[in-house]
Amino acid sequence: MYLGRERFTITGIVAREILDCRFNPTIQVDVWVGNEIFGRADVPAGRSRGEKEAWEIRDGDKKVYGGLGVGRAIRNIEDRIAPAIVGMDVRDQRNIDLAMIALDGTPNKQNIGGNAVIGVSMATARAAANACGLPLYRYLNANAHVLPVPLLNYINGGRLTSNDLDFQEICIFPVGAETFRESMIIGWDVYNALRDILSSKYGKLAVNVGDEGGFAPPIVSTKEAMDHLVRAVEVTGHADKVMYGFDCAATHFYDAEKKMYKFEGEYRTRTELLDFYKDLVKTYPIASMEDPFDENDIEGFDMATKELGIQIVGDDFLCTNPKLIRERGARCNALLLKFNQVGTLSETLDAAESSYRHQFGIMVSERSGETEDPILSDVAVGINAGQIKTGATRSERTVKYNRLLEIETELGDAALYAGRLFRNPF
Ligand code: PEP
Ligand code: MG
Repeated sequence: MYLGRERFTITGIVAREILDCRFNPTIQVDVWVGNEIFGRADVPAGRSRGEKEAWEIRDGDKKVYGGLGVGRAIRNIEDRIAPAIVGMDVRDQRNIDLAMIALDGTPNKQNIGGNAVIGVSMATARAAANACGLPLYRYLNANAHVLPVPLLNYINGGRLTSNDLDFQEICIFPVGAETFRESMIIGWDVYNALRDILSSKYGKLAVNVGDEGGFAPPIVSTKEAMDHLVRAVEVTGHADKVMYGFDCAATHFYDAEKKMYKFEGEYRTRTELLDFYKDLVKTYPIASMEDPFDENDIEGFDMATKELGIQIVGDDFLCTNPKLIRERGARCNALLLKFNQVGTLSETLDAAESSYRHQFGIMVSERSGETEDPILSDVAVGINAGQIKTGATRSERTVKYNRLLEIETELGDAALYAGRLFRNPF
């Protein structure tokens, strides 16, 4: 029971259909407190999704948005979630999330829809922060002060493009910057140098971009892509400040029937793929590798973690799910934190807390289908995460960077850029 409860009572929820950066429909939710204050959140969407993710409810009517409409999920918010949580105290995030979990009653939120539930959950946190007169990161944590190192996805492949590069994301990781702002300046230099390198080698079309705003050149070989990226870093004079990272998204090149990985045109066993990774790690200063093996290849993750000696991040492998982190956590050493993978903010915070207790690194992540909502920047600072990945260019990505720049200024001397301590900033 909180004092002054009336000021914080949820009075209504409004949900509407909007468009994400791929021009696909998604949900926007407003949670109202009293008549004057509301919190808004947009729901992002993945394309390269883990099989254990919370369920997205889509309408399936092929005549409208090719079946991707979210009318049913919106009706679930209005007709089922709203009656259950209107009247609750907006600061009571956990009980609000638990009420939605109980209402849904399935392990992966397929009844009400993970997309409906996460929209309300995030908008609730925003509304509570607004009602308290606090920025969201500070509402989440009075000790929030860490600015994450951005993993900047400059060469896109896999499901995020139509090129033939198997890795989904080939990224720079400016761990040697002193501030978040400096990491952006380094990023700008490298991105523009890379544009010149790629267009002079492959022609103007090579600098078209993929879903996350990184270049999508006609390259098949990971090493060829890396060589260009390393060159761009070298010509800009930032080599001592930059490491590299990948999202291999290996589920997408795993052939489940043959139990082999079809990588760069050849079938490879788990051990052969691991050998390729060992060679990469020997050749380039790589700090981080996400989903190096299929999402159910537990042994592959185990070998990568033990033998590569770098950060191994579980995305589809862990699905931001506290239960999976308990079961599989020892097989990797970092969590990719995506709110809509698990479906509520409370479960996301549980996943973060459990990761810290396992001495894990935490990388807060966008989805490939994003909106103008920068909520993940506030949550990243709110949990003092040392890392964030939110693509490269275009406003649905830069809005997250802009929010971090704003927070860094707001924190002033209290701000701490995680830098080389990205796995554990303390
Ligand atoms: C990813 O796989 O890490 C990613 C951001 O892509 P998506 O949102 O499509 O899962
Ligand atoms: Mg991934």
